[in-house]
Amino acid sequence: MFYNSPMNNIIQKAMQYHSLSKSEIVSILSTNDYDNELFTAADSVRKEFVGDAVYLRGLVEFTNFCRCNCLYCGIRAENNDTLRYRMSESEILSVAKQAIAFGYKTIVLQGGEDCFFSAKYLGEIIKKIKQYDVAVTLSIGERSFEDYDYLKNCGADRFLLRIETTDEDLYKKMHPNMSLENRKQCLYNLKKLGYETGTGCLVGLPNQTLESLASDILFFKELDADMIGIGPFIPHPNTPLKNVEGNNFLLSLKVMALTRLLLPDINIPATTAMETLYPKGRMIALQSGANVVMPNVTDSIHKKMYEIYPNKASVDYSELKQTLNSIGRTIGIDKGFRKKKY
Ligand code: SAH
Repeated sequence: MFYNSPMNNIIQKAMQYHSLSKSEIVSILSTNDYDNELFTAADSVRKEFVGDAVYLRGLVEFTNFCRCNCLYCGIRAENNDTLRYRMSESEILSVAKQAIAFGYKTIVLQGGEDCFFSAKYLGEIIKKIKQYDVAVTLSIGERSFEDYDYLKNCGADRFLLRIETTDEDLYKKMHPNMSLENRKQCLYNLKKLGYETGTGCLVGLPNQTLESLASDILFFKELDADMIGIGPFIPHPNTPLKNVEGNNFLLSLKVMALTRLLLPDINIPATTAMETLYPKGRMIALQSGANVVMPNVTDSIHKKMYEIYPNKASVDYSELKQTLNSIGRTIGIDKGFRKKKY
């Protein structure tokens, strides 16, 4: 399969040395002729470095209030058509406990940037979840160093904060009143504080170039990210980007596969956005470098209201287990921290 060609040589080099130049990454992203080779290579690096276990993270979407106005996001502050909700502490604990009883070893608390949940208040919730033997991941956006520090001391283990794009101009256009510099600083703060740090990008934003996607991947490596979530941008009808094309499943998959080749031992989810866009998208991602799935464990009423993009896919647990077994994979039984090998 890996006959000699400049492109196959690049893929082989990435498999062996986990390093590529920006122009090499762009050359792979520019053609679809070597996609099978790329996905096969990413799958074999995944198998070698993180094995066949697929880790499940139970996602609790606890608030859809958000002070930000990211142009692509359905829960942006200026979307007046969204019904806003905040789950109470007891509601959050109840869905978390249910997920833990079901076997989840990680609870992810995700929400809009909602100051109602002060570090102190969130800290109490984290401490209560940590009484069970699970890992806690936060995905609550940008906060001060002190807040991140406090939440870490309350027991939070991991943090997800996608850089979204490392392209300065595009970042500015997509995120009114925010700065790429501050987002990067937040990520470096999280790393410094000892969080397992996850980031990632959106693929298919308006005028996003292959060069800028290549820079995103190189940034993941520079940060030494522990987790990377790559999601295709899906237009939401109540946002300024409602008429943008987006929906680029294949390109997202390629960015994800390249990320696996360059950061071989990290955790990479098969994202819900991929499953939403393409039938069996999750399984395809799991066979192209991914090793994590993040099923939504939020109750159905709140889940519907957390609409960052339309028609979010869900996971049927028994179906997932069956399909995983059919492709030689198992559900991970430990907490699934990154085991650094590289
Ligand atoms: N407020 C948190 C969580 C944001 S929601 C934070 O800032 O990190 C989680 C992710 O959903 C975002 O990082 C973004 O990449 C993704 N997202 C938002 N709108 C989207 C859309 N229209 N299509 C695909 N993904 C989207």
